[in-house]
Amino acid sequence: MEREVAPNIEQWEAAGELPRDLHRKAAAAGILGVGFPECYGGIEVPDAFYGVVLTEELARAGSGGLIASLMSHGIASPPLMHAGTPQQKERFLAPVLSGEKIAALAITEPGGGSDVANLRTSAHRDGDHYIVNGSKTFITSGMRADLLTVAVRTGDAGLGGVSLLVIESDTPGFSRSRLDKMGWWCSDTASLYFEDCRVPAANRIGAENAGFLAIMLNFNNERIMLAAQAWAFAVVCYEEALAYARERQTFGKPLLARQVIRHKLVDMKMRIDAVKAQLDILCWRVSHKQMLVAEVCMLKNLATSTLEDVAGEAVQIFGGAGYLRGAKVERIFRETKVLSIGGGASEIMKDLAARQLGY
Ligand SMILES: Cc1cc2nc3c(=O)[nH]c(=O)nc-3n(C[C@H](O)[C@H](O)[C@H](O)COP(=O)(O)OP(=O)(O)OC[C@H]3O[C@@H](n4cnc5c(N)ncnc54)[C@H](O)[C@@H]3O)c2cc1C
Repeated sequence: MEREVAPNIEQWEAAGELPRDLHRKAAAAGILGVGFPECYGGIEVPDAFYGVVLTEELARAGSGGLIASLMSHGIASPPLMHAGTPQQKERFLAPVLSGEKIAALAITEPGGGSDVANLRTSAHRDGDHYIVNGSKTFITSGMRADLLTVAVRTGDAGLGGVSLLVIESDTPGFSRSRLDKMGWWCSDTASLYFEDCRVPAANRIGAENAGFLAIMLNFNNERIMLAAQAWAFAVVCYEEALAYARERQTFGKPLLARQVIRHKLVDMKMRIDAVKAQLDILCWRVSHKQMLVAEVCMLKNLATSTLEDVAGEAVQIFGGAGYLRGAKVERIFRETKVLSIGGGASEIMKDLAARQLGY
């Protein structure tokens, strides 16, 4: 992070995307492979804490866009890992883990992201191919991705008619356009369009119409990692604010000499530590094969609302300097909302938790 990312992050933010070479370097450093099988170039790990430690280190550059885009295979590739055939893994997983290809996950559609079971992109069977029509939006790494894990409707309405297909970006009929955002600038986000794309049926992940469960399991892991991100960025904000408060003098004293500022920092740390405690407990429980849904939804909301508060207070402690481009706290503040919306918005997390808790 210090050698390859920190000196370049401002330039990539301005460019609106990460260089492909970074994926190769990250693969060589062992970053892309964490949690994937060794035989496809991954690094097998015994528990979920490895992902949290990785996220903590990646967050040091103070850019959520870096994590979202460099690690977009972290949401695109697990369905392949769990339900793909050995041939599919060889073709679609190995080149991603080596950093040669970029993978993205495409679930959300212009018609709606929260209501996943209602997705409309269609895939009709034609011999040994599917003909795919429809569009996706808000897709992370969508402009650069070579391989897209796409949720399509292969059957009836509702959650029982959804499948996952790997669609290659050079498929005729596929096109995409860039979206500009509030934050996550170095992460290229795209709308995707499929017009009569012929996709081999051999690219389907798992059984036909069995995609919804894979999507839900994927969401659960993604939500833990989004909570880890929110926690890690809150730590960065707290550390930046503490260092600034030590150094900045007002009315002849450092900011840290003021009780108001010290109390802000204690409140930030108190909330950050509570998130970490809950994150650790849930990591331990999922690592012991416990299937947690309500707990993960609540963790995501706890972590992301903590980040919103902590980032806001960090900018406040920085004063005008926190409002200027180039300050880590300014960028993180702009990036808070995406964590409360992406991967399941807070309202949806509460609804899902309530259902799981039997209300
Ligand atoms: C930067 C960025 C990157 C993203 N990357 C990806 C990606 O890589 N792949 C991908 O598939 N998607 C991606 N997304 C999409 C993201 O997952 C969706 O934005 C999210 O799931 C919400 O869907 P929506 O935007 O369509 O909002 P909607 O579903 O339209 O909801 C709008 C608001 O209404 C609330 N709401 C909706 N239904 C209800 C209800 N029943 N009761 C109460 N409140 C409700 C929601 O909580 C939300 O606040 C990304 C989004 C962003 C912003």
